[in-house]
Amino acid sequence: MSHTPVTRALFDEVMMPNYAPAPVIPVRGKGSRIWDQNEKEYIDFAGGIAVTSVGHSHPKLVATLKEQGEKLWHIANVMTNEPALRLAKKLTDATFADKVYFANSGGEANEAAFKLARRYAVDNFGEQKNEIIAFEQAFHGRTLFTVSVGGQPKYSAGFGPALEGITHLPYNDIAALEAAVSDKTCAIVMEPLQGEGGIIKSDPAFIQRARELCDEHDALLVIDEVQTGAGRLGTLYAYQQTNILPDILTTAKGLGNGFPVAAMLTTERVSKSLGVGTHGSTYGGNPLACSIAEAVIDIVNTPEVLAGVNAKFERFKAGLDAINARVPFCEEVRGKGLLIGCALNETYKGQAGKFLGAAQARGLLVLIAGPNVIRMAPSLLIPDADIDAGLAILEAAVRDIVEA
Ligand SMILES: *Cc1c(COP(=O)(O)O)cnc(C)c1O
Repeated sequence: MSHTPVTRALFDEVMMPNYAPAPVIPVRGKGSRIWDQNEKEYIDFAGGIAVTSVGHSHPKLVATLKEQGEKLWHIANVMTNEPALRLAKKLTDATFADKVYFANSGGEANEAAFKLARRYAVDNFGEQKNEIIAFEQAFHGRTLFTVSVGGQPKYSAGFGPALEGITHLPYNDIAALEAAVSDKTCAIVMEPLQGEGGIIKSDPAFIQRARELCDEHDALLVIDEVQTGAGRLGTLYAYQQTNILPDILTTAKGLGNGFPVAAMLTTERVSKSLGVGTHGSTYGGNPLACSIAEAVIDIVNTPEVLAGVNAKFERFKAGLDAINARVPFCEEVRGKGLLIGCALNETYKGQAGKFLGAAQARGLLVLIAGPNVIRMAPSLLIPDADIDAGLAILEAAVRDIVEA
């Protein structure tokens, strides 16, 4: 073993420059608290970007990891395994879906979803039916297909031609959607609430109309719940708060609490287009990942935890509104469940990163969603005392900037 000191400076030496991590390095976590190399404590409102849904080092997940870790990690999809089957059964029992495909990340689950949507259209209606309708500011991952469907040009720029046959429309614009859907449309792809795009809720009438247009044109409605799923918005999946059913749903982030696992869910009818050999993944559905996701679902998918998510939203909202009344910094506190955004007011537009830095310096981890929105996505189990303590730190950080 070498004895290179592990410091933030080492990052710049040995890591690709595609990230710009914070100056400190976290080394452990418990619940909604994290400690860095210098034992400085942080309250975690970031949740590893809406991932650590039941908090750090949850005892049940640690036990599951150890137990499955001593049994079987990986066998590849030439054989099936017990944790994958149990998890698939739980996911289908709890949702619209009949069938599950496992992947390792949100981007991969979406890649599978978009491929399936095209394949289903080609199988059933012909080659000409391949157009995907997606939305501006949408985020679906970083593979070439998913950045092409995503609506943030900065993520697809510079990588050569994006995939063809994809149209981006303004989110929540029913008239634009009606004008764009045609018999060549194979799928409408949307997040039920745009996360990376700035914590923008979908209009119920917009999702409803998308469903109707899909039905009228034999297109599939693909709902990307990578960020909103696994209980984050107060139901196991966000579509369960609407009166529509998707044809395909993707889930990742909170599903594994940090262990890489993702799933694409669909109906029996649509699943037929992903026949033997059409798609696959070496790691997807491995027993270790699936055992952990199963434990996450067991913890999250209870009336108490889901009701708690909604109650904690109210606590955040009241606390943030109160801070904003004392030290005005945002024009709106928005979101749903434990996916919360503070949209900065005119004075601070473009400065979300500065608020993140000030909070971090004082011991609170938050996220941003673009330059104008401070985002919070803590553990669904965050204790009320940690919410209150974190909000007190946030107020101090806001004052650092506003009263500077
Ligand atoms: C994070 C995210 C993705 C990408 O997930 P990865 O695991 O980073 O590939 C896709 N869609 C949405 C809505 C996301 O928030």
